[in-house]
Amino acid sequence: MNSPTNLRARTSSASETQAAAAAIGHVCRPGDLLLLSGDLGAGKTTFTQGFARALGVTDPVTSPTFTLLNAYEGDVRVLHADVYRMGALQEVLDLGLHEALDEGDIALVEWGDAASAALPTERLEIALSFGVGDDDRLLGLRPVGASWVDRTDALSRAVEPFT
Ligand code: ADP
Ligand code: MG
Repeated sequence: MNSPTNLRARTSSASETQAAAAAIGHVCRPGDLLLLSGDLGAGKTTFTQGFARALGVTDPVTSPTFTLLNAYEGDVRVLHADVYRMGALQEVLDLGLHEALDEGDIALVEWGDAASAALPTERLEIALSFGVGDDDRLLGLRPVGASWVDRTDALSRAVEPFT
C-alpha cells in the first residue's frame, strides 16, 4: 500500500495559520474535501476562516458547532461542518454532504479524524496541534487519494513559506 506523503508546516499566530490555509485554498478545486483534526483550540475554525476568504468568501466564518453545517458563497460554495458532537456526522451526511461535494462544493469538516470512515476517501487530511509557545501551531498535511496525491508538489510549494 502506498503511504501518502505527509507535509508539515508551523505557524506562530492565528493570522499565519489563516495565511497558510489561504495558500492551501489556492490549490483546491470544486468537489474537494478537507478533514481537519486537532484538539479544541488547535485552530481548525481559524484555518477555515483563512481558507474561505481565499476562495472569495466575504461573510464571517464562525464555528458551526451548533448549526452543524454552514454554507458560504465564494468563488465556489464552501461548506463548513463540525462533527465533534455525537451524532453530528450522521446529521451532516443526512444534510447531503456527499451530494454537495458531487455538485462541486468544497467542504471542510472539523474533527474529520473521527469522521474519517464515513467520508469520501479522496481528501486532504490536516492535523493541527499545539506547539511550544501559546501561539505556535503545527500543521500536518496528508493528501489521500489520487486527486490529492497528484497535488502533493503544489501543496508543498503552498506551505513552503510556513516550514
Ligand atoms: P478549533 O476550531 O480547533 O477548536 P479555533 O480556531 O476555534 O480552534 O481556535 C483557535 C484559537 O487559538 C483562536 O482563539 C486563535 O486566535 C488562537 N490561536 C493562537 N495562535 C494560533 C495559531 N498559530 N493558529 C491558529 N489559532 C491560533
Ligand atoms: Mg472549531
